[in-house]
Amino acid sequence: MSAVVDKFLRYVKIDTQSDEDSTTFPSTEKQKDLARLLTRELKEMGAADVRMDETYGYVYATLPSNRKEDGKKVPVLGFIAHMDTSPAVSGKNVKPRIVENYEGGDIVLNEEQQIVLPAEENPELSDYVGKSLIVTDGTTLLGADDKAGVAEIMTMAQTLLAHPEIEHGTIRIAFTPDEEVGCGVDHFDVEGFQADFAYTVDGGALGELEYENFNAAGARLHVHGYSVHPGSAKNKMRNAILLAQEFQSLLPVFENPASTEMYEGFYHPDRITGSVESAQVDYIIRDHSRELFEKKKTYFREAAEFLNKKYGKEVFTLEMQDSYYNMKEKIYPENAHLIDTAVKAMEKAGVTPLISPIRGGTDGARLSFMGLPCPNLCTGGMNYHGRYEYVCIESMEKCVEIVLNIIALYTENGIG
Ligand SMILES: [Zn+2]
Repeated sequence: MSAVVDKFLRYVKIDTQSDEDSTTFPSTEKQKDLARLLTRELKEMGAADVRMDETYGYVYATLPSNRKEDGKKVPVLGFIAHMDTSPAVSGKNVKPRIVENYEGGDIVLNEEQQIVLPAEENPELSDYVGKSLIVTDGTTLLGADDKAGVAEIMTMAQTLLAHPEIEHGTIRIAFTPDEEVGCGVDHFDVEGFQADFAYTVDGGALGELEYENFNAAGARLHVHGYSVHPGSAKNKMRNAILLAQEFQSLLPVFENPASTEMYEGFYHPDRITGSVESAQVDYIIRDHSRELFEKKKTYFREAAEFLNKKYGKEVFTLEMQDSYYNMKEKIYPENAHLIDTAVKAMEKAGVTPLISPIRGGTDGARLSFMGLPCPNLCTGGMNYHGRYEYVCIESMEKCVEIVLNIIALYTENGIG
């Protein structure tokens, strides 16, 4: 069994599900079980400065440079993966199974409960005929998101430490908790990490390379109604439900998630509660373009102001907050080498790069704005956050190769 598979199978058996309702950090203590194991393994393989943050659960380590000084500027490179799994589906008692030499067609995950991974709804399965897949038993998620990334970084570290003849600059490694609940970098020690740049290893299919994500804001619309008995409401009642509906009707009709793709942004009412007296609508606002993002927020505010004027009072109040920004701003132009190098590293491994905009955010996006430019690399995992999650073994092995190629390219060429 290859090293990356051996590690992956060990890590997915540890339940590290995070919890979006928790008020602690990390959101679940059990994430530290994997943190402790990774700390021990890093020490055993001879990594330097291995440190587990006992309070917050982060793991940090260094692979010191072994280059002979030649005046060339080789950057300090970081690789980051998250340890937690999605709250959407249980990550307890994960029973991974290897499907060797997949022949195509449906994959029966669980004979007893008749749970099947259907080929018809997963046409990309046909790309894996002849390859080996790791699947679930249909009762839990797999945890390839992001334990595939963790296993790939650990395998890279083990390879470099076991082969001192492979020259490289300083490599930093970090494993983070709580990515799935949006808090993965809340307590990340960017200063202590001391990397010039980093990659998160948290993408999907082999070849995926991501450096563009949404600009994102959350808006809470408070609607203040006026409740009167419906029988005597004429010219008195202001129904907050109808006001909320009126507000929504002012927003551009096709700028919603169901009508947009690629670089198109949207307004999305995500949650509504209320009655005649008062209502509350939670929106998210997204756009890849910073300019259009700012325009969307302005339009949203103006819609509320317009209706306040129409009714002659504050029927709408608004709380709006930016959540994260498009990391492209921090990659292009000055750090474009991060993408060029990753593309070359993939091509060198015989992998076709698949670059597409993320319609969401990543921890790397937030890190990029904390001073650590950080695009996202593939892991080989598919169907994240569900019981149909699987990972291709050959893809995981290629991902290790890609990471090693990135290191080799920076060692050879320095920056740019
Ligand atoms: Zn992930």
